[in-house]
Amino acid sequence: MDEKKIIIIGSGPAGYTAALYAARAGLKPLLFAGPQPGGLLTTTTTVENFPGFPEGINGVALVMNMQKQAVRFGTELLYDSVAELELTDGAAQTVITANGERFSADALIFAAGAAPRWLELPSAGKFKGRGLSVCATCDGAFFKGVPVSVVGGGDSAMEEALTLSKTASDVYVLCRKEALKASKIMISRAEETPNIHIYYSTEVLEFLGEKNLEMLRLINRRENRETLLPCRGCFMALGHDPNTGLVEKWLKRDEKGYILAVQSPVHTSLAGVFAAGDCVDARYHQAITAAALGCQAAMEAERYLAGKQ
Ligand SMILES: Cc1cc2nc3c(=O)[nH]c(=O)nc-3n(C[C@H](O)[C@H](O)[C@H](O)COP(=O)(O)OP(=O)(O)OC[C@H]3O[C@@H](n4cnc5c(N)ncnc54)[C@H](O)[C@@H]3O)c2cc1C
Repeated sequence: MDEKKIIIIGSGPAGYTAALYAARAGLKPLLFAGPQPGGLLTTTTTVENFPGFPEGINGVALVMNMQKQAVRFGTELLYDSVAELELTDGAAQTVITANGERFSADALIFAAGAAPRWLELPSAGKFKGRGLSVCATCDGAFFKGVPVSVVGGGDSAMEEALTLSKTASDVYVLCRKEALKASKIMISRAEETPNIHIYYSTEVLEFLGEKNLEMLRLINRRENRETLLPCRGCFMALGHDPNTGLVEKWLKRDEKGYILAVQSPVHTSLAGVFAAGDCVDARYHQAITAAALGCQAAMEAERYLAGKQ
């Protein structure tokens, strides 16, 4: 079995930032890139809100830069997925890869992200990144002065709609149920915004358009009536599924499956195991916030390892 000081699981902004800090601290981290090398940013085109790139930067290029920087300072990168963990409270942390290899370290940073939920429609694949999005903060600015829609009925749908209402001409909130499940305050903010229109009992049947999204085919289930809605952007506000199945047996998680942070935003319920990025942060889901948590996790892990010596 290979012994290391620190193992990092995940190669998104959280994992690579943790690796950069750990490597520069001389900890020679071992990083598992997992099933999606580069993480969620590899599924987008231009990232305009990561500081340091005034013209924006392609998502893949951004994360490849992070990888280069982490490797330059001594991160060892393995393109394996972790299949199983054996975690302890303050002793060795063991990772077992999909092909059965075991690696142990005194500290572990878990940065496996969270998968956004998309509408499972056959026509969705064609328009991902061409009108379909899961993040108004990330992509809202690409839809200035045109109609957009938000799918969902909870607080995050209201937040997305309010964000989009500042730039889009009109925002259509498409709520499957007969009532929104968002909080009263968020509902009244949305209702008071003149360019937000809420459609109840409404589902998307199909995304339509030549190359980019142009139109939605909708159905009102109560009236059993189909309509076409011109719409250039459609934002899913259906929540995320944190990739925390691997730690279910070992770490405390909240009711949605996010790792529960104790004592600091990156300490978990086990000493020596730290969490960073979208798998521990149910609220922000941004590259910069994931990177910031990666930095914190590495610094806390460094302190923890120093304390053990
Ligand atoms: C379409 C889209 C566009 C976006 N645009 C923006 C934007 O413009 N600006 C912005 O700030 N944010 C944007 N985001 C959000 C941003 O991508 C995420 O907040 C960020 O990537 C989260 O970083 P992370 O490191 O926590 O997780 P992720 O980037 O999700 O990375 C998770 C990593 O964990 C690894 N992993 C998972 N399971 C295992 C396993 N079993 N073994 C080993 N590794 C594993 C995966 O391979 C992956 O490398 C966008 C998201 C999407 C989906």
